Amino acid sequence: MLDVAIIGGGPAGMTAGLYTTRGGLKNVVMYEKGMPGGQIMNSSEIENYPGVAKVMSGIDFMAPWPEQCQRFGLKHEMINIQRVSKNEDGTFTILKDDGTTEQALSVIVATGSTPRRAGFKGEDEFFGRGVSTCATCDGFFYKDREVTVIGGGDTALEEAIYLAGICSKVYLVHRRDSFRAAPSTVERAKKIENIEFILNSTPDEVFGDNMGVQGIKIKTPDGIRQLDTPGVFVFVGHNVNNEVLKQEDGSFLCDTNEQGQVIVNLRMETSVPGLFAAGDIRLDAPKQVVSAAGDGATAGVNAISYIMEHR
Ligand code: FAD
Ligand code: NAP
Repeated sequence: MLDVAIIGGGPAGMTAGLYTTRGGLKNVVMYEKGMPGGQIMNSSEIENYPGVAKVMSGIDFMAPWPEQCQRFGLKHEMINIQRVSKNEDGTFTILKDDGTTEQALSVIVATGSTPRRAGFKGEDEFFGRGVSTCATCDGFFYKDREVTVIGGGDTALEEAIYLAGICSKVYLVHRRDSFRAAPSTVERAKKIENIEFILNSTPDEVFGDNMGVQGIKIKTPDGIRQLDTPGVFVFVGHNVNNEVLKQEDGSFLCDTNEQGQVIVNLRMETSVPGLFAAGDIRLDAPKQVVSAAGDGATAGVNAISYIMEHR
């Protein structure tokens, strides 16, 4: 029987692992389906984590986190978790992708969120062949070429700035004329000569051939405009990864809101005793590394208290 099963190895999951193991729990496993680090690994830069004044890529920023957690005894298994369910005795069953199960006294769900698709024609067909949601991963393929960026949030603006340093031109297509992104980031982008803003406009259709994307048609207030860019980067927000909480009958293990975000209190407790949620998956998450890590610490500390009471 595990003390705590942590699902997800992003900033929230790893910090929960650090706090539970450093706080004295001996048998804590973090299940992560890919490399630990979470979605910030896709970011070209992070500059707002307190105490880290140097601007770094997401990969460099996250590099020391796993070692720090493992130093205190956190175990890591690279596997996708299909489902978490509650047993009659109050413990939890963790169902893994290989069909095996594990039992745990407490569970911290920190599965984060996933980039959303914008829903235009050709987006799925050309995904990975010119349509991308990761500038750090794919930007270099378009060195000295033109690309289109879709979205008006922090991710779209920051990644447009990053791409402008590699590509000859960046068209930033946003459906409104005001932005969700921080005003300072918008100002920074506006000062960059090779970023052209196309506002009040939406993607209509991406087109290409067997080799990949050749361009995108945009619906603008003046009609359809064609951008012959071989790269199209879509940054239109995220969906929460709540599948692990879905039970066989389709219901969620704990209370969620209409967007599927997990409802928690200030202790990161869900509506089910012993089940905690931390980071981007919870309601009203500020969707920041620092707050995800803070949630992970809060969940970890309270999971220890729960186990002390229920062991
Ligand atoms: P995530 O980072 O999403 O991690 C969740 C992990 O769970 C993932 O590694 C995933 O593989 C794993 N997982 C999911 N489901 C399962 C499963 N069923 N089984 C096993 N593992 C699973 N924030 C900032 O503070 N500053 C920034 O500059 C910044 N820039 C960003 C730039 C980009 C491009 C993006 C996408 C985000 C950025 N953010 C930034 C936001 C920040 O990355 C997130 O808020 C933060 O990573 C959330 O952490 P998390 O641990 O909750 O979830
Ligand atoms: P976001 O803030 O939700 O912005 C999504 C953008 O995409 C919005 O501008 C939205 O337009 C647009 N959009 C949504 N659906 C669309 C569609 N179908 N077609 C066209 N456009 C569409 O998402 P995000 O930028 O990924 O940021 C997510 C969170 O991470 C935010 O809380 C953000 O602050 C945080 N983050 C922070 C940093 C940082 O602190 N430096 C960096 C990156 C991300 P509307 O505005 O019209 O809705």
